[in-house]
Amino acid sequence: MKIFGIFLDREKNTENGLTIALPTPERVAVPLPQDGTAEVKVGQWVLTGSRLCGGSLPAHASVSGKVEEIKEFVTDDGRFTAVVIKADENQKNAAVKVPRADDRESFINAVRESGCPAAEKIAAAFNADMLIVNGIESEQYVTSENRCMLDDGQLITAGITLISRLMGIEKTVIAVASDCEEAIDAMEKTAADADAPNCEVVKVRPDHPAGADMVLVNNVAGRPIKANETAAEKKVLILLPSDVAFIAGYFETGMPFIKRRVTVDGDLVKTPCVAEAPIGTPLKDLFAFADGNLQPAEKMVIGGLMTGRSVTDPELPLGKCDSAALIFMKPLESGGKGSLKVTSGQTNCIRCGRCAKACPAGLMPMLIEKAVNKKKHTELRRLRPDLCIGCGSCTYVCPAKRELKDAVDKAKEILERKGGDEI
Ligand code: SF4
Ligand code: SF4
Repeated sequence: MKIFGIFLDREKNTENGLTIALPTPERVAVPLPQDGTAEVKVGQWVLTGSRLCGGSLPAHASVSGKVEEIKEFVTDDGRFTAVVIKADENQKNAAVKVPRADDRESFINAVRESGCPAAEKIAAAFNADMLIVNGIESEQYVTSENRCMLDDGQLITAGITLISRLMGIEKTVIAVASDCEEAIDAMEKTAADADAPNCEVVKVRPDHPAGADMVLVNNVAGRPIKANETAAEKKVLILLPSDVAFIAGYFETGMPFIKRRVTVDGDLVKTPCVAEAPIGTPLKDLFAFADGNLQPAEKMVIGGLMTGRSVTDPELPLGKCDSAALIFMKPLESGGKGSLKVTSGQTNCIRCGRCAKACPAGLMPMLIEKAVNKKKHTELRRLRPDLCIGCGSCTYVCPAKRELKDAVDKAKEILERKGGDEI
């Protein structure tokens, strides 16, 4: 049985624009992985592509210049360390090595060394027989992957060919939202050109969260999946078009993961765009590039409006997985990662059941919120908030403007901390 989602306002202001390369920022702050320790020192000169740290996913200099500081950033979601590099005028690349891979294991290791965030997924799906290239961007505003499909068709073709050969993939599906006609045309050509068995494009109903792993495995791969199972367990590898294009480029040039496309938009942005920006670019530079006005901003979001995170510090750097940077002045629903509906305050739950109906994981968000508020932690364990995929649909549909996704996030935290003891 297919999993259906909800339809959101489209608000794709940048879908017809080109990718614009951001001028080299004055300085970048390249985030390090939690288990990584900086291998560079303050005062050291680095070249673009130089390794900054090891760990589970290495980080690399996204500009050339002088290491100015090793800095800790604090956000609502925790802390992270970043290497701050003041860019020099010449912008020189490091002498990188083109990787070689002859089998699955060497391929997985090479992708990990590149610092590409898809490395973990690829390693987990080592026995996958199906590749889904996930070109669906169901959230408002975000168009970075759409742009990649339009710009990087040849790289995606090369990436699919490489990945299917080295990973032993038997079938590849490029999933594209049915309302993105240009991208569908571009991917039809990509699929036809790829030297990979059974490669095809599938048009997907453009509801939210059609691009979530669980929904793709169920609806596109046709493999029924429970909310507590992963795509890898179903032998499906899911990658973004930008992951596939990056991997192809990396195996041609050896340049690691140092930049990405990011959609810059919101009602305080005069010239919305998709920018190609170095990892670690401060958000304020992205907004300045798109004529954004930070002064009256009520809400700043990294990522999509439904699943991204609200932040307050415009100095925060662009991370490897950040597909969008958004700022808004108009009042927005809920204090968390909510929707675009105008808020006029919460009211009591009217038990309409819309949140439960919208939940692709089959949860009861209204009961989870109630159990959180009443500190019924054993009840919480029964309601399985850990199965939430963070799509934000429950908050979006609630007529009482309850901050349900935030409540479910809180429930997850409580269970992780307390293990479900009543207090
Ligand atoms: S509970 Fe989680 S999975 Fe369910 S609708 Fe809310 S955010 Fe999405
Ligand atoms: S959608 Fe809102 S009002 Fe309706 S049941 Fe859920 S929490 Fe209650």
